[in-house]
Order: sequence, then structure tokens, then C-alpha cells
Amino acid sequence: MDCIFCEIIKGNIPSEKVYEDEFITAFNDLNPQMPVHVLIVPKKHIVSAYELAEEDAELVGKAFLASKIIADKLGVNNGYRIINNCGEDAGQTVKHIHFHMLAGKTMGDKII
Ligand code: 5GP
Ligand code: ZN
Repeated sequence: MDCIFCEIIKGNIPSEKVYEDEFITAFNDLNPQMPVHVLIVPKKHIVSAYELAEEDAELVGKAFLASKIIADKLGVNNGYRIINNCGEDAGQTVKHIHFHMLAGKTMGDKII
């Protein structure tokens, strides 16, 4: 299996970690789109939101709970946006489920 995020989780590829627990790793995006752009990544290799199994439900909750800790840690609890790109049409490039956490300035342009 050739997965960049699994290699980052294992520590084989360096990253700027901002949070880690038993289930979740979070690190700065290599190509940030906002002053704060963190990727919140479940350690379990799941390809996308579409590939989630019933047993993974709690893991998704843990990813969102991690965002609260990260928001406090990085001082962005005034607001942030969490985005998940799922599959080809949504432009998902890394096939390991992850949540983009964007913050650090007022976000004007909303898709929805
Ligand atoms: P996607 O397009 O799949 O939703 O998001 C993938 C994200 O992973 C992109 O924002 C991209 O910049 C980021 N990314 C890709 N490779 C690496 C890497 O090796 N390290 C880090 N920190 N981010 C990466
Ligand atoms: Zn993976």
C-alpha cells in the first residue's frame, strides 16, 4: 500500500504535527490555503467518507472533537471551517480520509 498519510502517521515522512492521540493525527497542510490549514486524519486507513463502515462512526466524531483542541491550541476558536473532499468529483487527491481545518481569517466565499 502506497499512502502518503499512512507514512506520515508512521513517522516515515516528516510533518508539522499539531495534535495526536490514539486515533487521530493532525498536521499542517503542505500547501496551506489559509493562515491556519490543518489536516485532521484518522490513523486508520479509510479511503474516503464513502468508504466509512458502521464501526468507524466514532472515529469521525473523534476527528471533530480533535478540532476543538486544535482550535484552542492555535488560538482560532473564533471560528473555523472543516471540509472533507470525498471522491473524484470532489477533487480528493489523497486517498486516506482527512478533514481540512481552515482558520485564521474571515472567510467570505462560501460554497453553501
Ligand atoms: P484533498 O485534495 O485530498 O482533499 O487534500 C489533500 C491535501 O493534502 C492537500 O491540501 C495537500 O496540500 C495535502 N498534502 C499532500 N501531500 C502532503 C504531504 O506530504 N504533507 C502534507 N503535510 N500535506 C500534504
Ligand atoms: Zn493511509
